[in-house]
Amino acid sequence: MGDYFQTIVDLDAGEAEATELAERAVAWLVSEGIVLADREICVLGQPLGHPPGPHWSRAVADDEPDGAPSDGLAVHTGRTVFYSGQDEPEAVTCPRCRATTDLSDEEDGAWHRFSEAITDWQDGPADADVTCPACARDVPLGEWIWVDDRLALGHLGLEFWNWPELSDDFRARLAAVLDGHRTAYLWGKL
Ligand SMILES: [Zn+2]
Repeated sequence: MGDYFQTIVDLDAGEAEATELAERAVAWLVSEGIVLADREICVLGQPLGHPPGPHWSRAVADDEPDGAPSDGLAVHTGRTVFYSGQDEPEAVTCPRCRATTDLSDEEDGAWHRFSEAITDWQDGPADADVTCPACARDVPLGEWIWVDDRLALGHLGLEFWNWPELSDDFRARLAAVLDGHRTAYLWGKL
């Protein structure tokens, strides 16, 4: 057993708008009956989350899931590095030249450069750049594409704890509520 989570991260939400977007997303989820408005102790890593609502199944992919969600939704706002699981990212793709950099080669030190940039980004407020080893352009950290959605940087993340798999349709509808922003979808297990 163990606890697993699915996180939808808004990649475009700025620091100033994250709280308003979070409120809008939760209001929409409550109006759909997917979660309840009143928060309870039902998530990991935060004191309170929104428990599943009567129509939680509107969010999930399987018509007949094995079980109902056993926990709720944690809403994260503020500068956050979201990881999936415990493994470090293995590769990252440059949005400019589309070359993929292998991060698993320790002698090459690529992961070290990215992890330093991640630390700088977390400290804020400026966005950190990482130079692409393939095309030599400086690319803001937030624009790099993480292979297998292992990592995402954002100011807003909706983390569903112990829910059946969320559907593509649900994620698209949620992204539309978030002004059509780009989103990342991370899945992990503790
Ligand atoms: Zn490049």
